[in-house]
Amino acid sequence: MSSNSAVVVGGGIGGLAAAIGLRLAGWEVTVVERAAVLDDAGAGISLAANGMRALAALGVGEAVEAAARRQYTGGTRTPDGRRLAMMDGEALERELGAPIVGIPRAALHRILRQALPTESLVIGAEVTDVDTTDPSRVRVRHGDSTLDAALVVAADGINSRLRRRLFPAHPGPAYSGSTVLRAITERPVDGLTADFELTWGHGAEFGHIAFPDGTAEWHAVLNAPAGVRYRDPLTEVRRRFARWHEPIPALLAATRPEAVLHHDVNVLATPLPSFVAGRIALLGDAAHAMTPHLGQGACQALEDAVTLAAALAGAPSVEGALARYDAARRPRSQTVARDARRAGRMGQQLANPLAVGLRNAAIRLTPPGVMVRTVLKHADWAPPRIAPRAA
Ligand SMILES: Cc1cc2nc3c(=O)[nH]c(=O)nc-3n(C[C@H](O)[C@H](O)[C@H](O)COP(=O)(O)OP(=O)(O)OC[C@H]3O[C@@H](n4cnc5c(N)ncnc54)[C@H](O)[C@@H]3O)c2cc1C
Repeated sequence: MSSNSAVVVGGGIGGLAAAIGLRLAGWEVTVVERAAVLDDAGAGISLAANGMRALAALGVGEAVEAAARRQYTGGTRTPDGRRLAMMDGEALERELGAPIVGIPRAALHRILRQALPTESLVIGAEVTDVDTTDPSRVRVRHGDSTLDAALVVAADGINSRLRRRLFPAHPGPAYSGSTVLRAITERPVDGLTADFELTWGHGAEFGHIAFPDGTAEWHAVLNAPAGVRYRDPLTEVRRRFARWHEPIPALLAATRPEAVLHHDVNVLATPLPSFVAGRIALLGDAAHAMTPHLGQGACQALEDAVTLAAALAGAPSVEGALARYDAARRPRSQTVARDARRAGRMGQQLANPLAVGLRNAAIRLTPPGVMVRTVLKHADWAPPRIAPRAA
């Protein structure tokens, strides 16, 4: 085992980004992913300026921009179509120095995957345990195999096995109260003028993210008991949102029933006391799974990846670098997670008609742009430089 060998557990957006960053920092990296096919099963994703800056620091910013659509127009509305807040994405891009974009998750995942050598990816391999008894290395077990590494990155998502193993007293994920149905349309949608839009009803939100080819992802987020499932999810969404403004019916009409994904939104409601245990760093949803109400989960995972790589680049000790990573990332990502829950409570989850009316009136009285800036306040982030280790 060399002193710069790293194993990344999990090949999602966070794990792949961490692997790219660590390679830039001079590490030899192996990504171990349990899925037989390395892909991302989600629909679409919105990347704010902080996420785009992290991707640029990883050297894949241009490829992502080329596959994405800039979110210049849109904002929030009420179900009858009345405007609550407008978004001026061009002005935000000028202000933040990077665009907000919408991209199919599969396209983002493919770009990250292609930035890594095939031989660094071990797929169809579920990590079952880590042995941390020797302080100079971590032994990672998958199937009948083991891998020794000077550093392990636990990027194994919200139900992280490594988090449970390293922080057995932590209660783990909790249901947020919202369930989400989403899909990508099978064809371009007529009349889709806004790049990005959110519509708030009572305890329900409908949003879309448009892609360069005129298709779009839509998501319907509903207050619901944990575990609720519908026999025919698309019919249920069409029923619930039948009277909502265009292009919502058009988006649903352009969707195949089998394209609809349905997940409960779980979060790490209890913040972790550390993102580090010995030579293991937690990253992405494994460290700080948050509600999607600010569109920041993946952006925070990308920030983690760049910050971790920068901390380790040229560092004399892994332990010291991981302590700096924890200090830089834990307060920020946990603040974003807390704000995302608040945004959900004041936005999608608000169900009381009086409270909804008051909220909408308050938003209409807010000067243009202020509301969008509040939602995007975490987008203003500059990546640290990843300086490669001297040979
Ligand atoms: C509805 C919804 C909408 C969202 N929209 C946005 C958005 O617009 N913008 C944004 O920034 N974020 C968004 N997010 C959040 C974002 O999707 C997540 O934060 C992000 O995908 C987390 O990436 P990750 O790599 O940490 O975890 P994951 O994507 O969950 O990846 C974990 C990987 O680890 C693998 N794995 C797990 N256990 C093991 C094991 N034992 N061994 C090997 N492999 C293992 C899994 O198979 C998986 O591939 C949204 C989330 C939801 C639910």
